[in-house]
Amino acid sequence: MYKENSEFKMICKSMILQIEESKILKNDKFNVCIDTIANAVCNPLKISYIKKDKIIKLIEHAGIVISEPTTEQRNKYYNACTLRKFANNYFLTDGISAEQLQEFNNIVTEATAAANLLLPKTFHVLDAEHIPQIYNLNQDKEKTHLAYEAKIKGSVKSFYIGEKSDINASCMQGKPLSYFEIYNDINTDASTLKIAILTQGNEIVARSLVWIDKPEADIDRRKKMQPNEIFIDRIYTKTQDHRAETQTQLFNEVHKYFNVNTIQPKTNDSGQIITDAPTNIRFANCFNWYDIKSKVTEEQKTREPVKFLERTVLMDNKEIFCSSSPLFDVEVNSDSYSYYPYADTFHHFNTYNQTLSNDECSDSDILRLNNVSGEASENTRCCDECGSETHEDDATYIDDDFVCGDCAVFCDDRDESIRESDAIYNNCTGIYHHRDDLDI
Ligand SMILES: [Zn+2]
Repeated sequence: MYKENSEFKMICKSMILQIEESKILKNDKFNVCIDTIANAVCNPLKISYIKKDKIIKLIEHAGIVISEPTTEQRNKYYNACTLRKFANNYFLTDGISAEQLQEFNNIVTEATAAANLLLPKTFHVLDAEHIPQIYNLNQDKEKTHLAYEAKIKGSVKSFYIGEKSDINASCMQGKPLSYFEIYNDINTDASTLKIAILTQGNEIVARSLVWIDKPEADIDRRKKMQPNEIFIDRIYTKTQDHRAETQTQLFNEVHKYFNVNTIQPKTNDSGQIITDAPTNIRFANCFNWYDIKSKVTEEQKTREPVKFLERTVLMDNKEIFCSSSPLFDVEVNSDSYSYYPYADTFHHFNTYNQTLSNDECSDSDILRLNNVSGEASENTRCCDECGSETHEDDATYIDDDFVCGDCAVFCDDRDESIRESDAIYNNCTGIYHHRDDLDI
């Protein structure tokens, strides 16, 4: 159903006004009826217009009077073109100064970007093999690719990330394909990785990794999936404006797409369903939960009552559960990779059992995926005494504090390591004593 978009009309009129203000003359031959310009019926990004002589001709030759065009009239008698083409026709750009031309171009580019933002956001879920290409997208022509042609269900889609997009500020955006090797090497007999995106036209305006604690072969979107089997990683968005709305849309779409069973009965300690108690709403955990919590909760309050277990669940009689950390680890196929990405959530790579996890752990088999240079870090920690980065193997624990080799000495009296700051050295015997053990 076509509707004139008042915001689009404002963008067009503001574009014209701004160009007029930069003292660029109008082209008198292009005398369009400015009051009736709007978004085109065939394409929401194109401007629909009619010239004044055409209105007169229609009256004279066909007896058709258009004051406020119907959808049909707009489709039949109006022209449609891009904002840039419209601006090029509406103004006389021949012979203007280089400065004016620059300003003209900027105004048109900004208006086009603003119009793009009005498009509905479309949701897609892509397999992990697309992750390197999507992360690799960048506006820097020298290094990386501007667009990614993805074959999805037989048809080819071309995705890009706009120049003015906050997604470019993600530390991994535009990095080489090889950095993301590990994402293509998930043990799909145990876990699955997908990437969820929102697009406007062909532009990616939000992206997030979706981790699933299920073999790839078992993912059947017709079957209900449990919320604890899914983790929605950090959701990057194109703009900070309406960021929570965009993140909430992606969050909701993931639940719909994977058919996540968010309504769950309350049970007593022996697992029986308590029929008269309020219902739990349990969402898949999400990195950005605390950014979107209030939005999601608000939506739940206004939701229509739903039928569940033969009774109607009133949506104001419920508790909402969600958190920002995953409830599972992810297995991969190898214990080492040439390159590693920076990871927002699954940032501990256990090389011994080949799993990615979110747990803070100081095992020496662990690599930390916390670099943007393609390397992983040894699992080092700060010495609680001097603050220097120290590997697990070169440190000891003293009263539960992590102390590096330089800050600890061995005390023969106690037969254990003590802090050097607590030690007193005996020059004669060459051994350390703990100051608390001496009568001084
Ligand atoms: Zn130290």
